[in-house]
Amino acid sequence: MYKENAPFKYDFVGSFLRPSNLKRARADYAEGNITFEDLTRIENEEITKLIAKQKEAGYHVITDGEFRRSYWHLDFMWGFNGIEHIELDHGYFFHGEETTHGSIAISGNIDGKNHPFVEHFKFVKQFEDENTVARQTIPAPAQLYAELFREKNGENTVKYYPDDEKLIQDIAAAYRTVIADLYEAGCSNIQFDDCTWGLFCDKKYWNGRQNAETELKETAEKYLRLNNLALENRPADLVITTHVCRGNYHSTWASSGGYEPIAEILFGGENVDGFYLEFDDERSGSFEPLRFVPNNKKVVLGLLTSKSPVLEDERTIIERIHEAAQFVPLDNLYLSPQCGFASCEIGNKLTDEEQWKKLALVKQISEKVW
Ligand SMILES: [Zn+2]
Repeated sequence: MYKENAPFKYDFVGSFLRPSNLKRARADYAEGNITFEDLTRIENEEITKLIAKQKEAGYHVITDGEFRRSYWHLDFMWGFNGIEHIELDHGYFFHGEETTHGSIAISGNIDGKNHPFVEHFKFVKQFEDENTVARQTIPAPAQLYAELFREKNGENTVKYYPDDEKLIQDIAAAYRTVIADLYEAGCSNIQFDDCTWGLFCDKKYWNGRQNAETELKETAEKYLRLNNLALENRPADLVITTHVCRGNYHSTWASSGGYEPIAEILFGGENVDGFYLEFDDERSGSFEPLRFVPNNKKVVLGLLTSKSPVLEDERTIIERIHEAAQFVPLDNLYLSPQCGFASCEIGNKLTDEEQWKKLALVKQISEKVW
């Protein structure tokens, strides 16, 4: 394992464009044309190639690109005991596009024993070397809670969990089990991906609601408490960070707005080591909310977009990093694309080659600044 841990001066969020071989294999498996073993073999081959490319690009973090998942979040949720895969009659409504229809339903007590992602992690772990750290990305606990109350899902959720506090405690305990199992498997870096904070930032979403301010504060505090409960008793040498997301699906987005409404509670209150924050366009607002980031937490500036192949102007990005340094010391700042390249298997609208060019630019800029 690399002697340093995440975040790295040039870094990435985790998901990568799915190769055509993998897409075909997943479709073949869904249609019953190949076995689960066949699919796993192809996933293993493609992940092995991806990790070789991540290393070749000079990055210090390796991931499986989320190649075994169809969604950044739901596949992980389906891996818990007591949670089932369901299909709704519609997806999430993104800006100009509707996603595929997967969701979750409770079918019993939630627990995190034998989560399949631990085996997925072990596959990546074998490639860790003196230059790299194997990262596991998972959706934040609050994201699971939010999905359980998405639209009509809540009706089923309260049937199994009439007591909200019991639900919160069970989700947190299930996460603690998975985190402990990942750590046991040699994991030293976990990233929570979290769209719930992105939604809190969205003025348009909240403006239409009565008592919006009180509701926002109460919900945000509940989500924060749940995330922190899941982090209780985590080992000191396990680095956990949060990526705050505004949605990333086929190059479209879900929410919009600066960090101000949640800055104090999230940056000050969440017991993680750092934040991967989107700052790729005006939807993310100014750097000013970063004044709430305490000195012991790091900020990875997502200044380059993973949503488009257009390469950013180097000088502009460097200027923006120095602008952000008015609020967080330059030493505590890092650089990455604003999100993954394929939060869902459909991926963003750029080619594999363009994806790697983007990462090469992130590295090049980072090396000029630090
Ligand atoms: Zn994201």
